[in-house]
Amino acid sequence: MAIESAGEESPRIFQRERVKSLVAQLLEAMGEDPNREGLKETPLRVAGMFEELLSGTNQPSEGFLGSMFPAGHEEMVLLRDISFFSLCEHHLLPFFGDVHVAYIPNESGQIAGLSGIARLVDGVSKRLQVQERFTSEIANAIQKSMRPKGVLVVVEAEHLCMSMRGSKKVGSRAMTSAVRGAFQRDGVTRAEALDLITKGRNADR
Ligand code: ZN
Repeated sequence: MAIESAGEESPRIFQRERVKSLVAQLLEAMGEDPNREGLKETPLRVAGMFEELLSGTNQPSEGFLGSMFPAGHEEMVLLRDISFFSLCEHHLLPFFGDVHVAYIPNESGQIAGLSGIARLVDGVSKRLQVQERFTSEIANAIQKSMRPKGVLVVVEAEHLCMSMRGSKKVGSRAMTSAVRGAFQRDGVTRAEALDLITKGRNADR
């Protein structure tokens, strides 16, 4: 996220004051008067907002999972419809939707638990990224921390850069998946997980 300027090493941290003054400049460059009543506090608010929305930047993804505990269970675990909001790195506009995670704990199964997976999704969502990387980042963090027999992550998202502008495909959702281990090797297991993920979805909408 660091913005390099000549001769000066930028730390990879959020520079709130700098963002604030750059937002004022951005408003001006877009033909606005940053000093008019409605915009006076906008640079400060936008800086605070980006600090919150990008708080997962430069943080190791596994860290969001928190502490592990024994699974006592070697069957598939599925978490469906974990909602998220993220920002697309191409337009700085939101993309948002649902994450579904399936995994099979290993024999000595240390798992992160349901709230751990939800925290992981939330932490990783707070970065500038594309949906594909968001998806594989979640799968990789689970793989690295829990060493499951397999993990499958499916993300369904609407991108405002597609529905507000450009092709204006309102309500259309992009789907991405990342498959590791047993789900990659075994088509039956993968089909079972995908079936559980899609089941009842039409009834929801
Ligand atoms: Zn975009």
